[in-house]
Amino acid sequence: MLIVPEREIADLMTREAAFDAVEKVFAAMAARDAYNFPVVREAIGHEDALYGFKGGFDQAGLTLGMKAGGYWPNNLEKRGLINHQSTVFLFDPDTGKAKAMVGGNLLTALRTAAASSVSIKHLAREDAKVIGMIGAGHQATFQLRAALEQRGFEKVIGWNYHPEMLPNIEKVASEAGLPFEAVELDGMGEADVIISITSAFAPSLMADHVAPGTHIACMGTDTKGKQEVESALLAKASVFTDEVAQSITIGEAQHAVAEGLIEVSDVAEVGAVINGTNPGRTSAEQITLFDGTGVGLQDLAVAAAVVDLAVEKGIAIEVDF
Ligand code: NAD
Repeated sequence: MLIVPEREIADLMTREAAFDAVEKVFAAMAARDAYNFPVVREAIGHEDALYGFKGGFDQAGLTLGMKAGGYWPNNLEKRGLINHQSTVFLFDPDTGKAKAMVGGNLLTALRTAAASSVSIKHLAREDAKVIGMIGAGHQATFQLRAALEQRGFEKVIGWNYHPEMLPNIEKVASEAGLPFEAVELDGMGEADVIISITSAFAPSLMADHVAPGTHIACMGTDTKGKQEVESALLAKASVFTDEVAQSITIGEAQHAVAEGLIEVSDVAEVGAVINGTNPGRTSAEQITLFDGTGVGLQDLAVAAAVVDLAVEKGIAIEVDF
């Protein structure tokens, strides 16, 4: 069995490799070559932790496995560890033998950033110039960095519930040589692409904050009850997602579907756009919205890619297991 420790991931994994892995697996999911297993997530009654498994099988890439982990809210204060902890386990689909164990923390951030970037590549207008960020926490910096590679963006605008956090994304903009402007939510009308990545349970972005032709990637809503954008925005938009089952239960579309504003059949897979079986954006005025809920197959795809890179560079630790 091969081990790729968390400490090695930053030097091994590139945004490009994460993007390719996620784009391929979204395509495989839409072609029904890959599927996710039901997610397990439990409050374990110890350290207030939420622990669970996200797994799946990609028959096209022959990737079988799961990500185990979750959220330990006391880690940072008590132990100086990050609160999100996860590990990916890969298995040989021919034999069931354990194949690899891979640190999953940084990979989670990279695969999440890759998902909104894939949606921008396939759904945003080619001439998009202004990108708007809603959220300025840990994940926002990853989303912005990856998104900037997808179009010739000339300006970053941002709003955050906690404005004191905005320098986090301003820093990413200036590293890319782009001007940054803090705006109110109605200033988001200037954006051609908007990424929302917050832990909110009530909508911030309203339907009338968004201009025609905008692409929005909603990335924060990954649990029942969370919500970042007004349900009416989904009714106005063409809605795409990573996985429809998750989108309508734990994603942003849960609210619009429950309120009867859209039907389940209105939610399409971004993988179908990648495969060319769904036309995606069909006009410059259309609002497109990607509901990125985060699936296990994304984790497996980036973990498999990093194992290949670690083997190539002689960094993978081999153990007799
Ligand atoms: P973080 O704690 O670092 O940042 C949280 C962000 O949410 C901050 O910008 C904060 O100001 C904002 N926020 C907090 N309360 C808010 C409120 N009431 N209204 C509006 N904004 C509010 O967290 P993070 O690591 O950046 O993760 C952000 C979200 O993304 C979380 O909900 C997390 O579960 C989700 N996430 C999703 C995926 C996926 O695949 N879709 C992957 C990783 C994380």
